[in-house]
Amino acid sequence: MNIHEYQAKALLRQYGAPVSEGRPVLRPEEARVAAQSLGGPLWVVKSQIHAGGRGKGKFLGAPADAKGGVRLAKSVDEVEENVKQMLGATLVTIQTGPAGKQVNRIYVEAGSDIKRELYLSLLVDRATSRVAFIASTEGGMDIEEVAHNTPEKIKTITVDPAAGIQAHHGREIAFALGLNGAQQKQCVKLINTLYKFFIEKDVAMLEINPLIIDGDDNLKCLDAKVSFDSNALYRHPELAELRDETEEDPKELAASKFDLNYIALDGEIGCMVNGAGLAMATMDIIKLYGSEPANFLDVGGGATEEKVTEAFKIILSDPNVKGILVNIFGGIMRCDIIANGVIAAAKAVNLNVPLVVRLEGTNVELGKEILANSGLPIVSGDNLADAAEKIVAAVKARKA
Ligand code: GDP
Ligand code: MG
Repeated sequence: MNIHEYQAKALLRQYGAPVSEGRPVLRPEEARVAAQSLGGPLWVVKSQIHAGGRGKGKFLGAPADAKGGVRLAKSVDEVEENVKQMLGATLVTIQTGPAGKQVNRIYVEAGSDIKRELYLSLLVDRATSRVAFIASTEGGMDIEEVAHNTPEKIKTITVDPAAGIQAHHGREIAFALGLNGAQQKQCVKLINTLYKFFIEKDVAMLEINPLIIDGDDNLKCLDAKVSFDSNALYRHPELAELRDETEEDPKELAASKFDLNYIALDGEIGCMVNGAGLAMATMDIIKLYGSEPANFLDVGGGATEEKVTEAFKIILSDPNVKGILVNIFGGIMRCDIIANGVIAAAKAVNLNVPLVVRLEGTNVELGKEILANSGLPIVSGDNLADAAEKIVAAVKARKA
């Protein structure tokens, strides 16, 4: 689960990390009071969307020379004007895709003077099964680009979970960042704080880009992107409240409510499969036969009629879907029960695209018979390849 920058900074502040003062603003009328309470003389007006690259982003329909989603302001009037321009507008960044994201919240922050921009992030390094810090002197830039062009400028250190975070970790990072004596101390403290936050809140990724040396030569977190491990949210009711559902794909949101593992993709064949591995194989074979999957969907082991119906509804709410491939292995769940579930779901959602079903496993013959006698135009697939070939052909035939 991702959260907004202003929420991430509020959490970091609670833990004692250095961040600027700021106020979230949801309506244009709130801009002046927010700016006045911060005092000035410099403010930053920051679009809050779950995507990076806001500073270099462009608002849809804005003139070519218009500023991006992060703007400096030198007066209360300027803050207000920028808030008005940004709220409700759609910001396109390298991370949003061409459709962009609507800005519904703004963060007005006390502006900082910047002497240096650095990079710092924490993530779970699967290769070492440890939390890793990634630091670089090249802050404020796209870190993927730095990693590609000048990998020697990126320092990675991992923390032994048994020993925990130590002062030497902070010193090593301070050295890599070229910090002076006073800043080294601040860095050791910051590294401790961030690690504690990361572990206690089950964070999956924390990125501070840029971490700056400000006008007073102090370290400060100028940007903060945080995502939490969704599987651990049950331990953190206070974090679940930070979820902003307007930032999420509505189809993925609906799927999460029914405990379906669903990821929207941009192809035309909807897939309903049980088991993540089988779902991946199904997507691959659709591509092999010349089409593209519209989604990844794992209905899980206990695919009940209700779940199957919801899954159909979600798949069909995607206007790109031109056909559906159901690929279910009946192990614990018997094929005849699945067949009945598919028929009930197809009737409930008024299915109007070709549907190919491939069943395998317990009671498979009975399951196929039920599908054949349903009176619905459901095509049976004999195996994975046959089913994929049939659905791709059916979709092509309809287009022709
Ligand atoms: P991002 O573009 O989504 O990563 O948003 P950031 O919060 O990183 O802001 C983008 C850029 O705006 C930063 O890299 C800074 O160069 C600049 N910026 C942000 N806050 C301030 C500030 O307080 N003072 C100054 N001078 N520049 C800032
Ligand atoms: Mg940034």
